[in-house]
Amino acid sequence: MKRNLLLTPGPTQIPPSVCQALGEPIIHHRTPQFQEDIKEAIEGLQYVFQTKNDIYLIPASGTGAMEALVANILSPGDKAITVEGGKFGERWTELCQAYGINAHVIKVPWGQAVTAKEIKQALEEHKDAKAVFITLSETSTGVVTDVQAVAQEVQKTQAVCVVDAVSGLGVIDLKMDAWGVDAVASASHKGFMLPPGLAFVSVSDKAFKLIEESKSPRYYFDLRKSKKAFEKTDTPFTPAIGIVRALNESLTLMRKEGLENLFAHYARLARGTQQAALALGLSLYPDESCRSNVLTAIGLPSTVDGNKLVKVMRDTYGVSVAGGQAELKGKIIRIAHMGCIDEYDILTGIACLEKVLTQLGHSFELGAGLSAAQKVFNQE
Ligand SMILES: *Cc1c(COP(=O)(O)O)cnc(C)c1O
Repeated sequence: MKRNLLLTPGPTQIPPSVCQALGEPIIHHRTPQFQEDIKEAIEGLQYVFQTKNDIYLIPASGTGAMEALVANILSPGDKAITVEGGKFGERWTELCQAYGINAHVIKVPWGQAVTAKEIKQALEEHKDAKAVFITLSETSTGVVTDVQAVAQEVQKTQAVCVVDAVSGLGVIDLKMDAWGVDAVASASHKGFMLPPGLAFVSVSDKAFKLIEESKSPRYYFDLRKSKKAFEKTDTPFTPAIGIVRALNESLTLMRKEGLENLFAHYARLARGTQQAALALGLSLYPDESCRSNVLTAIGLPSTVDGNKLVKVMRDTYGVSVAGGQAELKGKIIRIAHMGCIDEYDILTGIACLEKVLTQLGHSFELGAGLSAAQKVFNQE
């Protein structure tokens, strides 16, 4: 019988107690009981977002949270700055285009991160820019952005700093308030260890002023409605009741562990995976200066077909990792360090990777990856 181990950058493995919570009968949402659930969820989310700002719960995938921010913060004809160094950075540009926003794009080579200096320069050249859209952890390339440094530059201007933290929140550090980040988008199915279907957005007062001024058409994603409901511990439409209740179990687990310990846990898994890849004669795709702990993007030799590698690992052995997207299709694999996984899950993934690499004719000493990862895990 085959297991299905998810080492993918969303969806991620769900803890047993969260699965149990998901199996509970549904309750009605306009009740004191569900109000308590919302209250608890908001408090827990504020802990993970490291913010005192409002947090709105929107039934949607992560892109819904991103769209909500674009549609609410800007108006047609406004200018914004976006960063394209991977698929998710491109999504900000595409969303801006869909809402008639004039996006000035900073192009970054894939595998590298945008620098605060580049952001500063763009803001000087585009003084009318109202928002800067960045990505905490670019899932298509395994690159992490120095959000703190970027936010510091944006703060000096009229613009707001908007971060896609769909992948990364709860896995690596993002101090929304302390770093002066104005808006954050996230979702249930990555670091929060839940099924997809629930998105979260948080906005600062500076960002909310823009939301009140915005002339963009919006209805379901209207954050003015969300704010009004939030003030009554309510949601504007039917919430994802089951996922909100399971979220509280997930948040309980995260708070019990503590953010610092979670970050250290995933960083250790990342270091083990990185050493394993190198020991197998593979390369690490992102620049050393900006490697994300959220996932490890591993470069494959041209002799190994990455699509086939991913397919055999998943379909024959029940270990799911992600392949490359767009220009990286077939050239990399991505192993996530997110969700309910530990070092033995990573070792299973590496063992499976070794097995299939051998089948595909890549030569290395069998066990070299496992040994390298275990050395990291045993020492730290
Ligand atoms: C997963 C992800 C998203 C959202 O994707 P959905 O499929 O809409 O959930 C956005 N940004 C990043 C960086 C992601 O990893």
